Amino acid sequence: MRHWPLWTLSRPALGYWLTVDVGALAAVTAVALSGAQPTPEELTRFAAIAVSSGLVIVGTAVTSQVRREITRNPWAIHVCYLVAGVFALPANLLVLLLLGPALHGVLGPRPEPHRWLFTTAATVLATFAARATAGWSDPRWDVATLILSGATMLLVRAVVVAVGLRLRSPGASGADVLGDPIDVAVGVVAVCIGGMTAMVTADDPVRAVMAAAPMALLERAAQLPQWRRSAQRDAKTGLANAAHWDRLARDELTRARGRGFCAAVLLADLDHFKRVNDRYGHLAGDAALSAIGVLLRSSVRRGDLVGRFGGEEFVLMLPDTAPAEAEAVAQRVRLSVAALRVPTTAADGRPHELSGLTVSIGVATTERFGYELSDLLVAADSALLAAKGSGRNLVTFA
Ligand code: GH3
Ligand code: MG
Ligand code: MG
Repeated sequence: MRHWPLWTLSRPALGYWLTVDVGALAAVTAVALSGAQPTPEELTRFAAIAVSSGLVIVGTAVTSQVRREITRNPWAIHVCYLVAGVFALPANLLVLLLLGPALHGVLGPRPEPHRWLFTTAATVLATFAARATAGWSDPRWDVATLILSGATMLLVRAVVVAVGLRLRSPGASGADVLGDPIDVAVGVVAVCIGGMTAMVTADDPVRAVMAAAPMALLERAAQLPQWRRSAQRDAKTGLANAAHWDRLARDELTRARGRGFCAAVLLADLDHFKRVNDRYGHLAGDAALSAIGVLLRSSVRRGDLVGRFGGEEFVLMLPDTAPAEAEAVAQRVRLSVAALRVPTTAADGRPHELSGLTVSIGVATTERFGYELSDLLVAADSALLAAKGSGRNLVTFA
C-alpha cells in the first residue's frame, strides 16, 4: 500500500481525489440502502438494460482483442445505459448499473487503480446529479428534462475529472485535461441513445435490445480521436508526421499567397546523429529525438508548423515571417539544441545525460522561391547540404 502511485500525487490533488472517491462511496451506500423494494416490472427493465449493454461491452472487448487493438474504457457505452437507468429505473437499481464502470476496472488491465477509482467516482457523482436534475424519486420524461439531465451528467463528469487532472499535473494542456472536442459529440449521442433506450424500455423491456447496435457503433466512433492522432502524429516525438505536415503547410502557403504574406521553411538535420546511437544506443537516440521535438515546439509561435520530416530531420513552416525573423528563429533553435541536456539511459543500462548535440538548418523563404511547397523544400534541402558541407552546427539560407 505504501508503494501505491496514489501517494505520489501532490497534497491538494490527493485531498481532492480522496474527497471525490469518499463522496461517491458515501452517495452509493446511502442510495443503495434507501428506496422501496423494486417491483418485478422494474427488475425486468433493469435486466433488459443491463443485458443489452453488457452484451455490447463484451462484444466490443472481444472484437478489440481479436484485432489486437488497444482496449479502452468504453465510457460512451457507460453513459448510454446510465442515462437509460436515470429515467427508467428506481434509484436503488440505478446503483446496480453503476457496477458496470466499476467492473470494467476490476476485470480489465488497469495500470493505475487510483485513476480508475477516481474516474468511476466522477461517473457515480455525475449520474446522481443527472438523476437529481430529472427528479430524484419520479424522473420527468419530457425532452427539456432529458437535455438538461444529460448535459448535467456530461458536465459534472468532465468538470470533476478536469479539476482532478489539473491538480495532478498543473502544466497539462487544456486538451489533456478536457479531452478531444469530438468527445463532446460522442457524449451528446450517448445521452440521446440512453434517453431513447429508457423510453422504449418503459413500454416493453425487450425493446432495450434495439439500443445495442447504436451503442456498438458509438463505441467505434469514440475511438476516432485516437485513430486521428495516430494518422497525423509521429509517435516518437508527438510532432506532425511528414504527410500531415505537408497538408498543413500547403494550406498555409495558399493562405499566405492569397494575402501576400511572406513565409519560411526550415529543414533541420541533427549532426552526426548516427554516432549518438552507436555510442549510447538507440533508446538514448530516441530520447534525444523526443526532447528535440519538445524544444522545437517551445521555440516557435503557436501558429508555426513543426513536423518530423524523417529519421533525425525536422521541418518547420513559419507563416507571416520575414527572412530576418526566420533567421532569428533558426539561430535560436540551433543554440537551444547545442545547450540541450537529455537525461537518458545508456546502452550499458547506466543513467547518462546526453549533451553536445548540434543541428544544421537550411532556410528557404517565399520571397525568393515563391509559394510552391516542393520548390521551398528543395531549396531548404540544398541550403542544409551547404550547412553540412561548411562544417555543421550552422544556419544557411538558400
Ligand atoms: P550528418 O551530420 O551528416 O547528418 O550525420 P548523421 O549521422 O546524422 O546522418 P546519417 O543520415 O548518416 O544518419 C542518420 C542517423 O539517424 C541514422 C540513424 O541511426 C539515426 N536515426 C534515424 N531515425 C532514428 C530514430 O527514429 N531513432 C534513432 N535512435 N535514431 C534514428
Ligand atoms: Mg539525416
Ligand atoms: Mg544527421
